[in-house]
Amino acid sequence: MRTIRLTIKELEKIVRGTCVGAGVSGDAGQDEQTVVSGVSIDSRTIVSGNLFIPLVRVKDGHDFTREAIRGGAAAALWQADHADPPEEADIPFIRVECCLTALQRLASHYRDTLPVKVIGITGSNGKTTTKDMIDSILRTTYKVHKTKGNLNSQIGVPLTLLDIAPDAEYAVIEMGMSERGQIEKLSQLAKPDIAVITMIGMSHLSTLGSREQIAAAKLEIVSGMKEDGVLVWDGDEPLLAKGLEAMPHPPRTVSFGMSEPCRYRASSVEADDGGVSFRLQADQYRIPMLGKHNALNALAAIAVAEWVGVPGERIRIGLERVSVTGMRMEVTRAPAGYTVINDAWNASPVSVKAALDTFAGLQGFAGKLLVIGDMRELGADEREYHRDVGRMLDPDTIRYVITLGELAEDIASEAAPHFPAGHVHAFLERDEALRCILSVITPSDAVLVKGSRGLEMEQIVFALLQA
Ligand code: ATP
Ligand code: MG
Repeated sequence: MRTIRLTIKELEKIVRGTCVGAGVSGDAGQDEQTVVSGVSIDSRTIVSGNLFIPLVRVKDGHDFTREAIRGGAAAALWQADHADPPEEADIPFIRVECCLTALQRLASHYRDTLPVKVIGITGSNGKTTTKDMIDSILRTTYKVHKTKGNLNSQIGVPLTLLDIAPDAEYAVIEMGMSERGQIEKLSQLAKPDIAVITMIGMSHLSTLGSREQIAAAKLEIVSGMKEDGVLVWDGDEPLLAKGLEAMPHPPRTVSFGMSEPCRYRASSVEADDGGVSFRLQADQYRIPMLGKHNALNALAAIAVAEWVGVPGERIRIGLERVSVTGMRMEVTRAPAGYTVINDAWNASPVSVKAALDTFAGLQGFAGKLLVIGDMRELGADEREYHRDVGRMLDPDTIRYVITLGELAEDIASEAAPHFPAGHVHAFLERDEALRCILSVITPSDAVLVKGSRGLEMEQIVFALLQA
């Protein structure tokens, strides 16, 4: 990416750093002349002219500075708690307290220079899906930039902001979190003109402690909103209604959901094998995505689209065309004949239930197999949540249950008494689970694969599609 352009002097000011190395001594004019265009945190993908920002994560970016210079870095940041930059390096280094904070300051500065309107999306589930829907609709009418994949973190959001083209009219930005304060930070960087809270689930219960705290964490998105902004929120969630009521200066709001007071209210939600359709007042909509919950994500997207003035017919076209980031109820027919539903991006009690409901509604398969891994980060009651899923499984709709991981063993043990002998299997190793699936699956079956990110259940999907 090469969007932002700055001289070293400007850079020093924005990141509150001091230039050391080439560019300070000797040629007095060099500070003014050296210009960085765009930033990169990865020496492997750096583009000539970029500012290299070495972040300290599992690996330390500082160790890759030489590669970054070889790749064309025009300057680099340098975190003050590190030993001096390599002596032979002949680019300017700007010494800063913290490279991540510097990245965020740069992003915030850049966002402030842009005419773009920002749509910030948070919520427990449905952020990426809703982001893709909003993008697909707005694209019919405007020049839109959106978060790539799932780049929604304290690093991903600033990188996304720094990637916005100067002539973009809208930026659709996903904001994720795992603890209090993170959405506040991201909202203050991105300064949304429109904020969306998709729903409140149970992800990150282990760090946040309660659903009240989860709702409060998502409502932090209000803190950075533009004065004349609007919040589009899940009107079926009482915790959000309560949180909004308690705000001394609540923003303008638009609610969506299934219940009576919602401003955008879906009715007649029908799921079929290829998608979901629903009514919104007199209008009928259809989205080519599995799962009734996607009607709710679509409502949020319609609310945003109408707010920014996309004509009704284009909203419908945008929704019909939406193509969603992979691993979200992605349906593929394997060469071996069976159908694989890849919902392996993540798993929490709410999204598992949504996926199971969708799976139960699918017609035309001889049998259905559920391959489910641990749901992680659920806190003290994690075992109970797994047992709940086990109790939810219905042998009339699911023929085999195959679990992967230690926590998911509780799903298996709770389900087993209700299933015929030999139809529930628990594994700790992915390869063993795969062998078991291949030994029972038939060409006319469907298999749903889901689990928390850490289990990389998509590896099972890939193997099934190649078998
Ligand atoms: P992450 O926090 O991992 O980025 P996300 O909020 O971006 O997740 P998606 O990627 O859109 O969410 O969807 C993740 C999972 O949640 C999918 O399994 C999907 O089936 C389910 N899901 C999506 N939208 C909803 C919703 N409105 N209600 C319940 N479950 C949903
Ligand atoms: Mg996401």
